[in-house]
Amino acid sequence: MPDATPATPPRSLSGMQPTSDSLHLGNYLGALVNWVELQERTDAFYFVADLHAQTVPTDPEVIRRRTRVTAAQFIAGGVDPERSALFCQSHVREHTEVAWILACQTGFGEMSRMTQFKDKTTKGQNANVGLFTYPVLMASDILLYRPDFVPVGDDQRQHLEITRDLATRFNSRFGQTFTVPEPYILKESARIMDLQEPQNKMSGSTSPDKGLLLLSDEPSRLAKKVRSAVTDTDGEIRFDPESKAGVSNLLTIHSAMSRRPVAELVAEYAGRGYGDLKKAVAEAVVAAVEPFQARMAELMDDPAELDRILAKGAARATEIARPTRDAVYDAVGVLPAQR
Ligand code: ATP
Ligand code: MG
Repeated sequence: MPDATPATPPRSLSGMQPTSDSLHLGNYLGALVNWVELQERTDAFYFVADLHAQTVPTDPEVIRRRTRVTAAQFIAGGVDPERSALFCQSHVREHTEVAWILACQTGFGEMSRMTQFKDKTTKGQNANVGLFTYPVLMASDILLYRPDFVPVGDDQRQHLEITRDLATRFNSRFGQTFTVPEPYILKESARIMDLQEPQNKMSGSTSPDKGLLLLSDEPSRLAKKVRSAVTDTDGEIRFDPESKAGVSNLLTIHSAMSRRPVAELVAEYAGRGYGDLKKAVAEAVVAAVEPFQARMAELMDDPAELDRILAKGAARATEIARPTRDAVYDAVGVLPAQR
């Protein structure tokens, strides 16, 4: 007899900050493509981290616009709001409620050791307390959902580690409350480099415009940026990120877009010029971006529909987050509110 109770699928969770007017190809290939793949086999929760974005002083209208754009880009990039809960972090108030309780379990010393805070402040970002306690809010974002998978980039490894520490500490002080999340570092995922400075990663905040392929760029502009990508003078198409960073980056992009192994592309391009490779990369990028932009235009044309999608996502997220918040409050002795 078949099993009458279908197994519950594992749960996954991830978020991105609305810190620019468009995602770039690195965000798309390094994160969004994985999200889309994960929603096929997990119960996925994806959010726009608008509260995290408050750590960087930004014009309120700009944040509002970027929050909608980021949500729309998730959908245009393949997140299906019928399947995954897509929401704004600020719409699920449990994120900040549990962050406070976790902050009260976090040592000042351990927060001071977070390398991202140190990096950002030495690069001149003004050091507000929100930026300092950012990893605590991130721990809350994660722990509320008791996810099985938390796909994060390598740069977030330390933050996931502190999340695990906080969950373990909380459970041992107050009894089993949180699931200790497993990191799910996507080894396979493409790391896309700046087209002009290919030894640096493509970055929304530090890459020059010519080094950055924005998903909102005109197709002709994208093609031009690819054609002007920095390569080298030895003229050979080989994958060698150390000494041939530019060419290797083009191969990585081609491979990620065409879903063909790098080795196969190297064999195909043996003896050919960089111009041929650039042409193929430009075509692949444009072919992916055109339908993306068409979908974006539809979504941005109807902000009310987008807001409805986000409201539905927040309601689904709240169904999971609220019982966790209640368990946390109860564990630490917060008196239940009478309604
Ligand atoms: P910043 O450079 O200001 O940190 P960013 O452009 O790197 O911004 P993030 O918000 O840090 O964007 O990252 C969002 C997601 O995109 C993360 O999952 C991150 O790992 C991924 N990502 C960012 N840049 C790249 C890249 N160049 N290649 C692959 N993945 C990337
Ligand atoms: Mg980053």
